[in-house]
Amino acid sequence: MGSVVVEQLRKDFSGVTVLQNIDLDIKEGEFFALLGPSGCGKTTTMRCIAGFESPTSGTIKIGDRDVAKLAPNERNCGMVFQSYALFPHMNVFDNVAYSLNIKELRKGNLFKKVGVYTRMLNSKLVKYPKEIEKKVMDILEYVELTDHAKKLTSELSGGQQQRVALARALVMEPEVLLMDEPLSNLDLKLRHTMRNTIRRIQQDLKITTIFVTHDQEEAMSMADRIAVMKDGEILQIGTPTDLYSNPKTPFIADFVGTSNILPGKVVASDNGITTVQIGNQQIKSVTQTDKTDVQVIIRPENINVLNGGSDDYDNAFEGTIQFATYLGNTVRYDIKVGEHQLVVDTTYESGDSIKRSGEKVRLGVSPERVLLI
Ligand code: ADP
Ligand code: MG
Repeated sequence: MGSVVVEQLRKDFSGVTVLQNIDLDIKEGEFFALLGPSGCGKTTTMRCIAGFESPTSGTIKIGDRDVAKLAPNERNCGMVFQSYALFPHMNVFDNVAYSLNIKELRKGNLFKKVGVYTRMLNSKLVKYPKEIEKKVMDILEYVELTDHAKKLTSELSGGQQQRVALARALVMEPEVLLMDEPLSNLDLKLRHTMRNTIRRIQQDLKITTIFVTHDQEEAMSMADRIAVMKDGEILQIGTPTDLYSNPKTPFIADFVGTSNILPGKVVASDNGITTVQIGNQQIKSVTQTDKTDVQVIIRPENINVLNGGSDDYDNAFEGTIQFATYLGNTVRYDIKVGEHQLVVDTTYESGDSIKRSGEKVRLGVSPERVLLI
């Protein structure tokens, strides 16, 4: 299994820079996500690693090999795409066996036979060597498709097709598995199941995986580490908890989870407490900063709706409920405080009453939960 090290990767398309200053240091066996909005350069980064695009500058290493001069099939990367890119006229088994068999034919210097093989496959005359048969059946069992081996891929559901694509990549025993938005075409429920399947297989095989997604929840729930990208650059790399509790920019605070982001001015700083003026309110934070103009970041679950006057918070505000959204085990409130609108998440247990629009509430936030950036 290989590590992936990318240094100062840059990619221009006809003079337009779409990627720059990309540095990645992905460890052997790591599940690494590239997360960012559509058009930020995730797929291009992936295609450079896989060898489908050549970088304008920068280096890419897989394991200890500099792969710059290597063709895609020599890089030992398995790829899974959003569109499954399966052969619709072949059955599941043949789809998974195809590349493996070609690799074997090439190895034995039987390159000319590749064309013959493809023709035989089309006329269903192909007989696979025992080792290939076993390898394919093993991997199909792994992705729970044994019973579907003889079906055409066009007869399968989306989730099953995606598992064929995964099996096809894994059967080659790649050093690195590259997955580009593999779950985007699946419905919500299946997406959740497939997250678990992919994570289980990745952990079992300990295969270095780069997973591209625009869905922060997907990245947060699956990845060991995440690189957040925007406009062709990496803004921050960290574990899901790093990114959530210590976002370096307001963009990340908003993109990774939900945040209340309020512009303010620092008016005092003593004893480890920074006081910030927001409109006609003041708020205290434990964040130390040299800046005067700051963005105040508060996560929705860190604002408490106080019951009665007994709670003693360093930051307490009056607010008016605008909307309540019931989400099962939480209720999300939109609350107006001064001229600002805050999002507040409260845990909900059966029997709790839900506050109504127009109701006045008192809110408390501890200074430890107020981040300044
Ligand atoms: P993402 O996968 O994050 O949505 P992409 O890597 O596909 O983003 O695209 C990044 C940018 O590069 C986009 O502005 C896109 O239009 C541009 N781009 C991608 N491929 C090409 C190409 N072959 N030629 C020109 N521009 C491209
Ligand atoms: Mg893409």
